[in-house]
Amino acid sequence: MNPNVVTEEYVELQKKIMIEQENIKKIIQPLIQLHMSEESFNYEIPVLPQLRSMPVPLPLYQDALKNISMVIKNENPDLPEEFLQYIDNLAKEQLVNYIKGTILFKTDFFQKEARQIGIDPWLPHFIAEQALRPFMHIVGEYCKPFLKHFDVMGTCPCCGEPPRIGKVEDGYLKVLLCPRCESKWKQKKESCVHCGEDREGKLMYISVEEEDNSFLEVCKTCRNYIKLFTLDSENEKNAALLDLESLHLDFVAHEEGYGDQN
Ligand SMILES: [Zn+2]
Ligand SMILES: [Zn+2]
Repeated sequence: MNPNVVTEEYVELQKKIMIEQENIKKIIQPLIQLHMSEESFNYEIPVLPQLRSMPVPLPLYQDALKNISMVIKNENPDLPEEFLQYIDNLAKEQLVNYIKGTILFKTDFFQKEARQIGIDPWLPHFIAEQALRPFMHIVGEYCKPFLKHFDVMGTCPCCGEPPRIGKVEDGYLKVLLCPRCESKWKQKKESCVHCGEDREGKLMYISVEEEDNSFLEVCKTCRNYIKLFTLDSENEKNAALLDLESLHLDFVAHEEGYGDQN
């Protein structure tokens, strides 16, 4: 299974992982105590990479790695048994590297890990990322009151993820949603979320037939896009699910020549 090729199995796997992440979050929430003071942050850098201490107790993260690996193992028998043992035996410093590698998007570190263990190159990063998400959700909730001060070149002010989805609320300004840490933040001015383009006629909207509550905003300047939703507040879903259920819009964007694949 390769997560870069979206299949029905991949969508199913992601949904099962989301259920597991909710379970993990319920268990860890009462055990985590965050101490951050709003004034200590540089508002031009996301919160997560600025934390001075680990937001995650290492044994809890190791359990999360095991639980996510089990979900993947159940869906994907190709995952070797040895990998689960490998996770079990990770030393403290390795766990710290997994957490830092995830927060700082260190692809090289995880590819080296995969080569050493002898498993598919995408697996260690994918598992490390999915296991950290319940912790990121908790950090996201904690930061909610002060995220509005941040302006992080369009990326998520909490975790640094590039923007992919947003909500249109009364008027034009977008509320951006992060499928990684579930933070929400308001765009400060009407412009491309990726490159800041704000000249008239440079942003275009593509709607898909029979899709009346979602559409694409594409940028002619940077050739990137964002998926936008017009949602009632009562049927708010979490951003990760919204992102997963709107994969067809990503296909449309790619077909029209927008996004990373160019
Ligand atoms: Zn985020
Ligand atoms: Zn742009």
